[in-house]
Amino acid sequence: MTAVEARQHFTRSFGGEPTLVASAAGRVNLIGEHVDYNGGEALPIAIQRRTSVAVRLRAGDRVTRINSGGTGGVLMLDHGQLRRRKKWTDYPSGVLDQLIGAGVDVPGMEVAVASDIPSGSGLSSSAALEVAFGFAVQSLLGLDTDRVALALLCQRAEREFVGVPCGAMDQLSAACGEPGQALHMGFAPVMVRPVPFAETVLVVDTAVPRSLRGSAYADRVRECAAALSAIQRIAPEVTVLAEATTEQLDRAEMPDVERRRARHVIAECERVRLAVRALEGGARFPGALALESHASLRADYECSSPELDWVVEYAMRSPGISGARLTGAGWGGCAVVFGEEHALEALSRSITADYAAAIGSRPRSWLVSADAGARLEG
Ligand code: ADP
Ligand code: MG
Repeated sequence: MTAVEARQHFTRSFGGEPTLVASAAGRVNLIGEHVDYNGGEALPIAIQRRTSVAVRLRAGDRVTRINSGGTGGVLMLDHGQLRRRKKWTDYPSGVLDQLIGAGVDVPGMEVAVASDIPSGSGLSSSAALEVAFGFAVQSLLGLDTDRVALALLCQRAEREFVGVPCGAMDQLSAACGEPGQALHMGFAPVMVRPVPFAETVLVVDTAVPRSLRGSAYADRVRECAAALSAIQRIAPEVTVLAEATTEQLDRAEMPDVERRRARHVIAECERVRLAVRALEGGARFPGALALESHASLRADYECSSPELDWVVEYAMRSPGISGARLTGAGWGGCAVVFGEEHALEALSRSITADYAAAIGSRPRSWLVSADAGARLEG
């Protein structure tokens, strides 16, 4: 009900009613981790956790007044002097910067944001904020709201303005989600295709701070670029790492660390294709692929954590669970668990106390299923 909250925050901050409210979704990646920036394939779903943005034009100046969560006051974003401030307003500022850079004359606006996506847990609250804000502004100004184009604009905002070298998976999920459908994505070139997915999955947030994440993520991006360069020395026709074959990887000369990163990327894309084939054939999500993905992320990509490994092992000891893996960038954050719905419900009840006893902090967990991406709220 973040749409209702955004309206309430709006009225409290600015008085009166917003012209419209738009929202975008958080996401859970079913499989295909750390492949988007390597030109690979992924299979995320948009989920029922959302960020809503209420907007109204404001005559007089080209300044956006924005509030999030109904607290923290109203902040000013001067369209003529947008700059990185290393705070949350960098995300909407980045989107404004892209729109203005594309030649849109963006007038001043009043904006209120509300969200129930936990921030920084790997469910992609940042992309939901960018896409919900972008969709609201485009709708308000009567601009084209092609969802793929909007997602790519928001990705550029996060890369160029916020300074995170991210791929496009999060923004595409936030924008393009569909109820009952997972999104089979390709990233070189960009492709989004719905695949039937009616299952419920359990998301477990390990609730561990991930101070290392930003720098470790950038390290992986660099290591993958280095692995690609090494492969291109023996196979110049390879343009993205995900396109390389195991045989090319074996022949190329590179340090062991880079080889392991590349091995994960190549194998992970094959797992995505196998999962898509299974779902399109009417099967449930193949849990074994999730476990293989987790093992690869842990050993070859080194982005798991003791807490994520604990959740995966605990889940697999529970009856009726078919698979589990870390989801999102890793280094803490969330795991996704697959299985029959009643088994997931039982797991969500038992894991809280057992995790607290083993790890010392309380995990949060949510049952979610595939939901809509960017939309206008009535
Ligand atoms: P994730 O996208 O996995 O949640 P990130 O670190 O990429 O994690 O993004 C989290 C950041 O996005 C927050 O620290 C905050 O700056 C910003 N953010 C996300 N949602 C909101 C929101 N509703 N209001 C204000 N800032 C938000
Ligand atoms: Mg993010």
